[in-house]
Amino acid sequence: MNPYDYHRPESAAAALALKSSLQGSRYLAGGTDLLVRIKDGVERPAALISLRRIPELRAIETTATGLRIGALCPLSDVAAHQDVNERAALLAAAIAEMACVQIRNSATLGGNLCNCSPCADTAPPLFVLEARAEILGSEGTRDVSMAELMVGPGQLGLGADDILTAILIDEPPPGAKGIFLKKTRVSMDLALVNLAALMVLADDGATCESIRLCAGAVGPTPLRLEQVEASLKGRRLTPELIAQARKLAADSVHPISDIRAGADYRRQVTGAFVERAITALVEQGAAA
Ligand SMILES: Cc1cc2nc3c(=O)[nH]c(=O)nc-3n(C[C@H](O)[C@H](O)[C@H](O)COP(=O)(O)OP(=O)(O)OC[C@H]3O[C@@H](n4cnc5c(N)ncnc54)[C@H](O)[C@@H]3O)c2cc1C
Repeated sequence: MNPYDYHRPESAAAALALKSSLQGSRYLAGGTDLLVRIKDGVERPAALISLRRIPELRAIETTATGLRIGALCPLSDVAAHQDVNERAALLAAAIAEMACVQIRNSATLGGNLCNCSPCADTAPPLFVLEARAEILGSEGTRDVSMAELMVGPGQLGLGADDILTAILIDEPPPGAKGIFLKKTRVSMDLALVNLAALMVLADDGATCESIRLCAGAVGPTPLRLEQVEASLKGRRLTPELIAQARKLAADSVHPISDIRAGADYRRQVTGAFVERAITALVEQGAAA
C-alpha cells in the first residue's frame, strides 16, 4: 500500500471542509470496500478522511414519520436495533444475510450504499421501503431518493465532496409484510441475485392490494420491477397470475454475465424469486 495522509474530523461539517481542501482525498467509513481496493492498487487516494469519529453520523433515532439511521452505523448495530426490527424488519433481514460478523461489525450502512454496487444487499430493502438519503453538501442538507443516490455501478449521484449523513425510512404501509431473498455461489459471497418484496394483502388474504419489488445484481443499479408490480396490483393472486409475474420479472431485468453467474441464469433466478416471495408472503398473511 502507498502511504497516504489520514484525517479524523469530529464533525460532518469539518469532514466536508477537509474534503474540499484536499484534492484526490476519499471518505473512509468501515473500509471493507475501500481499503480492499487500495490494497489491490485499484485506488490510490491522496488522503483518507475517516468519518468514523463523528457521533452525529452514528445515531439511530425515531422521527415523526419513521426512522433516521446514521450513515456511519455499523451494519450489526442497525440489524440489532429494536426500532429497526419493528419498523424496517426487511433491512435487518437483509443485513443478516451479509458477509460475516466481523465484516458486519466494521461495515457501515452508508458505505454499502455509497460503494454503489448493483448487488449491495441493503439497497433492495431500502428501495421498496422508499427510503430517502440525507446528504450534506456545500449548499447545506437535502434528501434524495435511493435511485438518485445509486446511479450506476460504482457511481454515486452526489457532488464530489457530499456526505451521505443518514437514511430516512418512513413507516411502511399499514399491514405490509416483507421478505428478502439472496442467491450466492457459496456462503459469505456477494449476491448473484437479491430481491426484496413488500406486499399488502387485502382482507380476503388472496388479493394483492399493493406490492413493491426490487432486484439487485441484475442491472447497473438495483431495479424496481414496476411492470411486475402493476401486473399484480388489485388482482387475485392465482397460480396463473403468479406464473405470469415470474415470467415478466425474468424478462424485465438486464443482467450481465460475470464470474458469479451468467445473464440467463440471473434472469431465471429473478423470476423464481418473485414467485417464491409472493407465495411466502401470501402464506405469512394466511398465518397472521
Ligand atoms: C469478505 C467480505 C464480504 C462481503 N460481503 C458482502 C455481502 O454479503 N453483501 C454486500 O452487500 N456487501 C458485502 N461486502 C462489501 C462491503 O462489506 C459492504 O459494501 C460495506 O457495507 C461497505 O461499507 P464500509 O463502511 O466498509 O465502506 P467503505 O469501504 O469505507 O466505503 C465504501 C465507499 O463509500 C464511500 N463512503 C462511505 N461512507 C460514505 C458516506 N457516509 N458518504 C459518502 N461516501 C461514503 C467511500 O469513500 C468508498 O468509496 C463484503 C466485503 C467483504 C470484504
